[in-house]
Amino acid sequence: MKIAPISNELFERAQHSIPGGVNSPVRAFRAVGGNPRFMVSAKGPYMFDEDGNQYIEFINSWGPMILGHAPEMVQQAVQEAIPNSLSFGAPTRKEIEIAELIISMVPSVEKVRMVNSGTEATMSAIRVARGYTGRSKIIKFEGCYHGHGDSFLIAAGSGAITLGVPDSPGVTKGVALDTLTAPYNNLEAVKALLNANPGEVAAIILEPVAGNMGLVLPKPEFLQGLRQLCDQDGIVLIFDEVMTGFRLAPGGAQELYGVTPDMTTLGKIIGGGMPVGAYGGKKEIMDYVAPAGPVYQAGTLSGNPIAMSAGMAMLQHLHSNPSIYNQLESTTTTIVEGMKENMQKLGLNYSINQVGSMFSIFFTEQPVTDFESAKTSDTALFGRYFNAMLQRGIYLAPSQYEALFVSTAITDELVSKYLQANFEALQEAQ
Ligand code: PLP
Repeated sequence: MKIAPISNELFERAQHSIPGGVNSPVRAFRAVGGNPRFMVSAKGPYMFDEDGNQYIEFINSWGPMILGHAPEMVQQAVQEAIPNSLSFGAPTRKEIEIAELIISMVPSVEKVRMVNSGTEATMSAIRVARGYTGRSKIIKFEGCYHGHGDSFLIAAGSGAITLGVPDSPGVTKGVALDTLTAPYNNLEAVKALLNANPGEVAAIILEPVAGNMGLVLPKPEFLQGLRQLCDQDGIVLIFDEVMTGFRLAPGGAQELYGVTPDMTTLGKIIGGGMPVGAYGGKKEIMDYVAPAGPVYQAGTLSGNPIAMSAGMAMLQHLHSNPSIYNQLESTTTTIVEGMKENMQKLGLNYSINQVGSMFSIFFTEQPVTDFESAKTSDTALFGRYFNAMLQRGIYLAPSQYEALFVSTAITDELVSKYLQANFEALQEAQ
């Protein structure tokens, strides 16, 4: 049984100086009840909290730590970079090297601009798409999350739906009018929006595999169908691969599904744990970005040398060890099959989605293929399950509307521990 008096005290103290006590909303555990654990260190598959509790990790800092925490080659690259400068604000060789590596890995990317977060990447990508097409509207999908830019906080997933604010106050009506939304996996709805807004849509942006309403896979014809619609109408197709980039394959979901977007946004793994994002795409589109072109986008710390060193070490490792992806998928499949066996023994029949090293259990018996079906999940039951897992030392995302990630640090022994905890937690939560 894990108790956490020091975390509880810190959370109480944090309320006085930080809104809600946290610097990103889902960390507050609001949706699952109880207080968040305050962490002090992490190594490999484990995180350790202020109270000395150890947790086996299935969030991995919401995605970036695909090799587990504190991988040697990333730590070393950061340590080597520190004495040279924490920030130059001038170009460096490393920025070219990481751009070239990203271009060699991600099929759609011919030129790339580094930024500091996934949010910056998506905000910038739609500005460029608007500048390039001379059109204003974008289409996004219900339950997809693209960071906290105003244009995306419309029917948003992740923390926004977790806290009950998929349409955030503070987003102006004018901005909201330019964001059209359709259900995920529904090509007919997209066609209807395009018919109703002829010549007005600059971009269609989506998570090619959605991880922010829990994990939802694209239907086989969905990505290809969007590609065709964008080609027909001169619309920029943007894959937001902040979560799936370098996670599902070296070239992300676009490599896995064989559909090439016009632009791609990246984050999480690309920084190896440091705050990094990037957006890239076809040369003719990316050459609209200043100073090559007229669309303005900048950043005091963009291309930061420490962040570039961490990202480079991470990407180089993934690039030269592609067998990692088979290993990750195999571990995740063992987990998912084990969870299904556990449910069978307990007479339960919840929905589980998996692709590669991402998975979600939804507390509904319905197949989950979009936001509507994801919302049939019993979130109170999820909360009880989450806490029962936490008590057994398994750290999951504290929301039904998030995907779980497996890292290469998860061994067979840890899979067994996870599955034992899963059996007990499923039983306890009913
Ligand atoms: N896009 C997707 C698909 C994401 O999952 C996220 C974050 O979870 C973002 C964009 C925003 O990235 P960041 O939190 O780095 O701003």
